[in-house]
Amino acid sequence: MKASRITVNGIVQGVGFRPFVYRLAGEYGLKGWVRNTSGSVEIEVEGNEISLRDFITELKKAAPPASRIEKVRAVACQPHGYVSFDIKESETETGQYQPVSPDIATCEDCRKEIFTPTDRRYRYSFTNCTNCGPRFTIIEDIPYDRPKTTMRKFKMCPQCQKEYDNPADRRFHAQPNACPVCGPRLELVDNRGKPVKCNDVIKKAAILLKNGEVLAVRGLGGFQLACDATNEKAVDLLRKRKHRPAKPFAVMAANPDEVEKYCKVSLAEAELLASPEAPIVLLKWRQPSVICPSVAPGNKYLGVMLPYTPLHHLLLAEVGLPLIMTSGNLSEEPIAKENDEAIRRLHGIADYFILHNRDIYARYDDSVARVENGTPQIIRRARGYAPHPVMLLNKSKQILACGAEEKNTFCLTRERHAFLSQHIGDLENEETLAHYENTVELYKKLFRIQPQIIAYDMHPEYLATKYALETGAKQNLKMVPVQHHHAHIVSCMVENGVKGPVLGVAFDGTGYGTDGNIWGGEFLLADNQGFQRLGHLENVPLPGGAVAIKKPYRMALSYIYTLLGKRYSLEGLPLTRFVAEYEIIKKQVEKKINTPLTSSAGRLFDAVAALLNIRMEIDYEAQAAIELEMAATDDIFESGSYPFTIACNRVKIVKPGELIEAVMNDIKDGIPVPVISLKFHNTVAEIILQMSLLLKKDTGLNQIALSGGVFQNRLLHRLTLSALQKEGFKVFTHHLVPCNDGGISLGQAVIAQNSE
Ligand code: ZN
Ligand code: ZN
Ligand code: FE
Repeated sequence: MKASRITVNGIVQGVGFRPFVYRLAGEYGLKGWVRNTSGSVEIEVEGNEISLRDFITELKKAAPPASRIEKVRAVACQPHGYVSFDIKESETETGQYQPVSPDIATCEDCRKEIFTPTDRRYRYSFTNCTNCGPRFTIIEDIPYDRPKTTMRKFKMCPQCQKEYDNPADRRFHAQPNACPVCGPRLELVDNRGKPVKCNDVIKKAAILLKNGEVLAVRGLGGFQLACDATNEKAVDLLRKRKHRPAKPFAVMAANPDEVEKYCKVSLAEAELLASPEAPIVLLKWRQPSVICPSVAPGNKYLGVMLPYTPLHHLLLAEVGLPLIMTSGNLSEEPIAKENDEAIRRLHGIADYFILHNRDIYARYDDSVARVENGTPQIIRRARGYAPHPVMLLNKSKQILACGAEEKNTFCLTRERHAFLSQHIGDLENEETLAHYENTVELYKKLFRIQPQIIAYDMHPEYLATKYALETGAKQNLKMVPVQHHHAHIVSCMVENGVKGPVLGVAFDGTGYGTDGNIWGGEFLLADNQGFQRLGHLENVPLPGGAVAIKKPYRMALSYIYTLLGKRYSLEGLPLTRFVAEYEIIKKQVEKKINTPLTSSAGRLFDAVAALLNIRMEIDYEAQAAIELEMAATDDIFESGSYPFTIACNRVKIVKPGELIEAVMNDIKDGIPVPVISLKFHNTVAEIILQMSLLLKKDTGLNQIALSGGVFQNRLLHRLTLSALQKEGFKVFTHHLVPCNDGGISLGQAVIAQNSE
């Protein structure tokens, strides 16, 4: 007779771990107990030696699907002579913490139940079990028990309670457990909040959607706006009302077969779509399509997701059409989560509202991901992923890293956990800032973190920076400013478990440089402590500052004027229509009136898009660059590229003057736009390769980290990766965290940890 005391760390609560342990102990004939503590699951088992050993092996191997084991520690102890195996009361330990499970898409068992007429949860929108359902969005504090969630106001009926108490049941200790008798309910109201009489909310909602109405649906982490994705009028109406003229919408399709009708789906993509995280996956859009072109104008990819709650499953099955499912907000505000708040904020957008009374504690947008090279890359990290921590190489101090301005996330660290927040949004209005501050407090509470250090971007105008400076001063924290592109590169290193140093290629739109200029086409020597700027794209003026970002033609004019000189006329170029403004821009640049310098790669893409008349003014971020990428259709092959020079001083400067001139010559020669676009992409990859080869010679480094929002460009990502790998470089790219500014806070935290 041997005995063992086992501690399991990771996501092991709220995911059916104790019933799993209970069953496993039964299978091996072991006696003892299991219990939750604030920081782990503890097990004491006794029995014969072989069973004990096999039990521990199976514990790791056969753990429930939603759990994530980080560590299993087993120590031998004295046998007590237990006569049974029991689940003991939870033990609360002050100061202890553990990761919290993200929300999990409806599992197959629950899905079957809601479509089975004889099941007591037939057509019940809040069906869940220990393998699926809400978690992070309903938890107010740890340990994760029903009284500490927004489910506390629903008293379980005897039948639900029986499931909850039975260790052999799939719903044993499923905190959000509910049924039509005792649980949350749906309600349908019009846009003034007046209830719509109907027997079945889902059936009525489906009729409204088929009639082309816009519905606001209270989902898992907030409201979504839904309409028929095949109805041009409905899509147009939604665009007008939401003030979103062109930015792509995501679509929800009923099941994998439906998705296959609209998009090309690889095996890895199918897996990602149907995963418990169930993100929006960017897929190659089949043409012609019943889905309106205006869902994602000019885009070759369509963001598609599968239903991930019973409500979505039921609605999609009832409508029988693919639906647009987009965030329930007005342009860049946070998504609405409360019923009355939604009606107040969205009544001008939605005609009807599907409400319910299971409150949402944390806002949680849909995540966006894609598959590159057979592996998923997360572009927007929220539902299904956050607040799952990124594991650090070493134990960290308690740090709050405040993130950047756009696509903000923050990061809190403790021990080896980096809790990267869900996507918060663009921090440019009061509402989003309030959401940010509340979410910081929630994470501090959930993970029992009291930061001693606060890290922030060097940009003085970022709201996150202002927040950091205020909070840091008030709470007397150590303050660590971090350069934007250094943070990008380190975030990529961290998720790849790389210490560095590496050559970091950070290509993005905007980041504040240590010289006060706007950086964004950067070649850095970086480790998790510091960096050296080894090279960058040549600086050009940004005529009018931020206005130039909205008006790519200004960038094109700036490039022409700065790099090619006054002698250049615009004749024969689509840009001629801006000839009057060109004169003003020339004066602006000469007199240096509101013309900050930038080395941004994003602006180079903008300039070329404008030269080609693809996009002169943008409606959403990176639109010009995205449309430039889309112009390089994949049924052409072009291996050519444009010339450029690298000036090898102490800092190497990439001079794109010849590149701009050659593009202009191609336009004048009538070379087709797709060919020019592809040649341009080839050139940018070539720039990265040539710089990397030069810098390798200087530094001896063969490891490269690619980061920054420009690498959301799939064509560039592919071309760059293959060019570098062909030359034998070891290349690290993003998978777990976004390459865009959504990943910045992770890098900031690790740099702060290593700062003196
Ligand atoms: Zn389930
Ligand atoms: Zn019930
Ligand atoms: Fe950036």
